[in-house]
Amino acid sequence: MKKDYHDYNTLLLHASNDRDPLTGALSTPIYQVSTFHRDSENPSKYDYSRSANPTRDVLEDHIAHMENGIQGFAFSSGMAAISTVLLLFSPGDHLVVSKDIYGGAYRLFTQVFSQWQLEVDFVDITDTNEIKAAIKDNTKGIYFEILSNPFLKVADLKTIVDICQQNSLLSIIDNTFLPPNYCRPLEFGADIVLHSATKFLNGHSDVIAGVVAVKDVSLAKKIGFLQNALGAILGPQDSWLLIRGMKTLGIRLERQTDSASKIAPWLKSQTWVKKVYYPGLEDHPGKEILSDISTGYGPVITFHVIDDKTKGLLLGKLSLPAIAVSLGGVESILSHPATMSHAGMPNDVREAQGITDRIFRFSVGLEHPQDLINDFENTISNV
Ligand SMILES: *Cc1c(COP(=O)(O)O)cnc(C)c1O
Repeated sequence: MKKDYHDYNTLLLHASNDRDPLTGALSTPIYQVSTFHRDSENPSKYDYSRSANPTRDVLEDHIAHMENGIQGFAFSSGMAAISTVLLLFSPGDHLVVSKDIYGGAYRLFTQVFSQWQLEVDFVDITDTNEIKAAIKDNTKGIYFEILSNPFLKVADLKTIVDICQQNSLLSIIDNTFLPPNYCRPLEFGADIVLHSATKFLNGHSDVIAGVVAVKDVSLAKKIGFLQNALGAILGPQDSWLLIRGMKTLGIRLERQTDSASKIAPWLKSQTWVKKVYYPGLEDHPGKEILSDISTGYGPVITFHVIDDKTKGLLLGKLSLPAIAVSLGGVESILSHPATMSHAGMPNDVREAQGITDRIFRFSVGLEHPQDLINDFENTISNV
């Protein structure tokens, strides 16, 4: 975090251009424009909005500050951000990738980048020996999520960054589940951090976007080149929505995480719940590692229900949470990974990872936790 702010919430509001230089407007103007007049006497830094747009610039600058990097990039989706970053590699390169990644990223590796001859070995990212054993002569990077989806396993960021530095590998972290108010991987020496900004960063379930941040100048140049060359940029309107949404990131997450820390033990005490996965619970195997690198555990709870009847009640009768794909919004969302986020994975791979159809992922929103608990109670007793 920038040293001169006592608190991250201040940085969220004031770190970059929080006032329009032309008018003083507190809300960043939406430069809904594709091209710019070229004034030969006063050349502007802008010429075409794929290359740079003033609204997107404010967002990208802000992302850089939020992640404590030197440059940020905004893309039309989380998948566009991931795809663009993966094009840093060449055919024949090899990556070590966590087994436990977002289903869409798994699909991208196995069905798209496989055709580009990008070699991948999937490993259990919590097993340091397995990571080391997977490194080959042509390995160029390690790709993982610190907090995995859906079981919220914790990757040992510091150790993995060490392994990367010892072997000259790029560390690429999809930190969608652990936003920068809690954890900033670049500060621990990681090379590239990215997010599906669709989730916590925007927070209002009204934008699809992806962001990337880096701290190295030559890497920034390469990603900037790819962003312009591939063109999967975020438009001005969505950039504005994301700028607005991010102002309340810290305060939203504080409240949502606080609610999750009340709901997780409650779920654990219920007879219809077989197991609860929440990194803030004492018995969570990654709690200690996470406390070392993150100031919060986040608002996502995964749980396993005992039978199909309970599964049916949750999917059909809850009134407050949306039953939906995605997470991180101000409204609570209950997801069913087997048919949603992980539907892109072959059944056998998915089941081998324990993602059966009795697994639920709960993204706690801003509703009062007691109202959410009451809703679950009424649903299960089916009144
Ligand atoms: C949603 C998600 C993505 C994909 O992002 P989109 O914005 O939907 O393209 C990537 N990684 C993780 C961890 C996600 O949750």
